[in-house]
Amino acid sequence: MTRRLIIRNGSFVNSYLPSQGDLLIEDEKIVGVVSTNTEVWPDAEVIDATGKFVLPGLVDPHTHIQLDTGIYKTDDDWDIGTKVAAYGGVTTVIDFATQFPNMTFQEALEHRLKEAQPAHIDYSFHMIITTLPDQYDRALFQQEMAALVQQGITSVKLFTTYRPNYYIDDDALLSIFQLFPPSMVVMVHCENDAMVSAATQRLVQQGQTALSNHAKARPPEAEYEAAARIITLANLVDNSITPYIVHCSWSKTFELLQTLRTFTDQFYIETCPQYFWLDDSLYLTENAAHYIMQPPLRPAEDVKELQFQLPSFDVVATDHCDYHIEQKLAHQDFTKTPGGITGLETSLQLTFTLYKQLLQKAPLSFGEFWGSTPLTSLDDRIILGRIAKQMAEMPAKIFGIFPQKGALMPNSDADVVIFDPKPTLTLKADELHHIGGYSPYNNYAVYGKIETTICRGQILVHRGKFVGDIGRGRFVKGVLSK
Ligand SMILES: [Zn+2]
Repeated sequence: MTRRLIIRNGSFVNSYLPSQGDLLIEDEKIVGVVSTNTEVWPDAEVIDATGKFVLPGLVDPHTHIQLDTGIYKTDDDWDIGTKVAAYGGVTTVIDFATQFPNMTFQEALEHRLKEAQPAHIDYSFHMIITTLPDQYDRALFQQEMAALVQQGITSVKLFTTYRPNYYIDDDALLSIFQLFPPSMVVMVHCENDAMVSAATQRLVQQGQTALSNHAKARPPEAEYEAAARIITLANLVDNSITPYIVHCSWSKTFELLQTLRTFTDQFYIETCPQYFWLDDSLYLTENAAHYIMQPPLRPAEDVKELQFQLPSFDVVATDHCDYHIEQKLAHQDFTKTPGGITGLETSLQLTFTLYKQLLQKAPLSFGEFWGSTPLTSLDDRIILGRIAKQMAEMPAKIFGIFPQKGALMPNSDADVVIFDPKPTLTLKADELHHIGGYSPYNNYAVYGKIETTICRGQILVHRGKFVGDIGRGRFVKGVLSK
């Protein structure tokens, strides 16, 4: 039997639909929009969205659900992790499959596909490469990459730091770039390993391993150098791979990368709410352990600059990672504390709130992005339009799952978020749904509330209640762009 759902009288924030109306959903797909109260489907289920905004379900291309780094593991699983996502309006995650030593890419992918079975939302993976082709056959490597693309995997991830398992030097980067299929998206964690190692060793030798030293061990210059190097190296290689700089944390890195656009525009830059909401003074507080992450938080004045760059980033993702507070507190030594924070549930509210605050503070500095629109009640629509681009449409496009995902348009998957911009709320760690036992944003005030999250036509969250079915999430096949 066909299931019909109408989202009545909502405001749509993307350019594929008229700005207002009734959104029609049939089974798993969006059918279209009719003007409100047109009699179309008398027997359909109806959700009233009057006074609310309707966004495409968010696509978070940087999460670590049920993470196992080889050293640390998170306690969550795909049931918990994707429930948290649904509460945050996220209907697709692109997580990671790690090729551990002695594992083929195929085995790594199958391992993660199995783990993801309980998912409530849709998902895909980036392949983390740890064994380089020099250590085995280059032709075989290329075959295995091609096989991944065939199966719908469009991206890999590399690291410029973390010896010995993940680190890749320049020689290896250049040679591996040549072996990727054309237009493969190559995500890179950018921190110059020598700079990080030298700073860390110096602190260790001085006995300065308290958590308050974490940011000093990973200077922002390490990111700056590595990010520019990656774009430059990739530009030398002729198979037109697409670098994707994950979690850009420093305003000067972003500035530098923008200047590189004069000789290549084929790359993307991601940032995360922690880098535009939080600064390194938090390492001096009693909650320092909450904020251990790589790269670390940056000085307040740089965070302020990054905030004003926010509209120009291609993607806002979370780097969600649900370590338990006991793991975070166990050592009180930054070299031993697992790095990573949760963020899937709060990213939409945090990003919306920051944009609102910036517009209130300095509307003119956004002229370029918002046009000459004066501050009116339309601002929420403009902000949410930008958010829909950075948190749904762009990630879906970059990783080859658009317009199935990332857009409200006829024939797209019915992945929908109903967002009420009006409430002012205080985030409370114990009201959020991850299991780590803390939130980096405890007691932070935010604007807006996620009313309803729908994935492929099924309501997952409605007015604070989770109503999804375990295991309904599906692997989404990506297609490489030409
Ligand atoms: Zn990450």
